[in-house]
Amino acid sequence: MDETAQNAEKRIVIIGGGFGGLSAAKALAREPFEITLIDRNNYHLFQPLLYQVATAGLSPADIASPIRSVLRGQKNAKVILADVSGIDTTRNEVIAEGRRIPYDALIVATGARHAYFGHDAWAEYAPGLKTIDDATYLRRRILLAFEKAEAEDDAEERRRLLTFVIIGGGPTGVEMAGAIAELAKRALTSDFRSIDSRSARIVLVEAADRVLTPFEPALSEAARRSLEKLGVEVRLGSAVSDCNSDGVQVGDQFIETRTIVWGAGVMASPAGRWLGAETDRAGRVKVGVDLSVPGLPNVFVVGDTATVSGADGNPLPGVAPVAKQQGQYVARVLIARQSGKTTDSFRYRDFGTLATVGRKSAVVQMGRLRLTGFLAWVLWSFAHIYFLIGFRNRFVVALNWLWSYVTFERGSRLITGVSAADLEQMGRHDKATPKVKTG
Ligand SMILES: Cc1cc2nc3c(=O)[nH]c(=O)nc-3n(C[C@H](O)[C@H](O)[C@H](O)COP(=O)(O)OP(=O)(O)OC[C@H]3O[C@@H](n4cnc5c(N)ncnc54)[C@H](O)[C@@H]3O)c2cc1C
Repeated sequence: MDETAQNAEKRIVIIGGGFGGLSAAKALAREPFEITLIDRNNYHLFQPLLYQVATAGLSPADIASPIRSVLRGQKNAKVILADVSGIDTTRNEVIAEGRRIPYDALIVATGARHAYFGHDAWAEYAPGLKTIDDATYLRRRILLAFEKAEAEDDAEERRRLLTFVIIGGGPTGVEMAGAIAELAKRALTSDFRSIDSRSARIVLVEAADRVLTPFEPALSEAARRSLEKLGVEVRLGSAVSDCNSDGVQVGDQFIETRTIVWGAGVMASPAGRWLGAETDRAGRVKVGVDLSVPGLPNVFVVGDTATVSGADGNPLPGVAPVAKQQGQYVARVLIARQSGKTTDSFRYRDFGTLATVGRKSAVVQMGRLRLTGFLAWVLWSFAHIYFLIGFRNRFVVALNWLWSYVTFERGSRLITGVSAADLEQMGRHDKATPKVKTG
């Protein structure tokens, strides 16, 4: 084995402890590398269940695990908590909070954020769902809407408070709409005295002619029917042209509401800018077939921050299995390089797509298998519990789901950290500000 090749890429820096970054780090566990994983959060987040935190079904700690404890047993890996702001590709250094962290090979796995298609002002009125903070903020807003409605004398304002508009009929929008409907029409029904939470109006707005476009049309239709059965009003072929503090403009109709949820688009992290690399319209770095950045063979980009074509020639979707497989693939490339070998191009193995609609219905598309309804939900539940990191999380989530399946209860209905801006956003905040715990 060539000594130079062996030591050439010894220091591996990974930016991002999400699905892509963590799977790369773990796949290098037994290899003679010095791995440094940098993340601005001290936890790995299981984003597919964020909507359950936003709708009071689970607590933040149920779906997050400290990165340090995930990598505790991995002696060749260290973790740095820092926000990366740049990459010096000439000196092979990552820039994070005034530090410069040198690398021989770099894996960038910094994910994506929601995007507003050039309407950034909408962010204030239509918060999205990407982080724990986003989820607890949305949870606060949704629960506060019910509290405010309970104390509201004006019927018109009560109607606005009990109207929830979800923009975007992708998996996040569908999951949020279903979960808010179940919260209003099942979990909260006995808790209020002045309002009937069942009267809440939940509207899901989608510009395309069906929800869940990554699925086959028949499954989209099944998901739409399930949503309507839960009491969600599904508006297809309806583009949103404005969001403000009073509501949403959908086509030629203005829907008055105090709670808007954004689930309509994402933008990659700014890694493309840090690397001076070519990106697509969503800011994703156009990587080569080995996931390295053209012109920078020791820099790889994986997951939601990268774009690469699948077998059908279309860009791979921004989902967790793509990020995980890409992280594992780059680990294989680095291991092979140590002994001067090369690896085949990256190929994504698609094991299927799943999305849930409420607490006992889902749609599943796996190879030739198509499932809807309860059986699909059982599969969805097992898949999500299986992929959660940590025994405690798996156990707690499974128990929570079983409990809420039997009782309809939502155990995580805490309103915390209410700010003046929240109350402002809720419209008339002069009356009956609910008693809340802050911090
Ligand atoms: C609400 C929601 C629901 C979803 N549902 C599903 C689903 O059901 N099934 C599915 O397969 N996929 C789902 N996804 C998509 C899936 O979560 C992503 O495709 C996946 O997380 C991408 O992995 P990643 O490693 O590229 O990025 P991420 O998992 O987002 O990880 C990025 C990491 O980088 C860190 N980071 C970012 N910027 C910096 C910086 N500047 N400095 C330091 N650290 C930084 C972040 O803290 C984070 O830990 C969902 C996503 C969301 C938001």
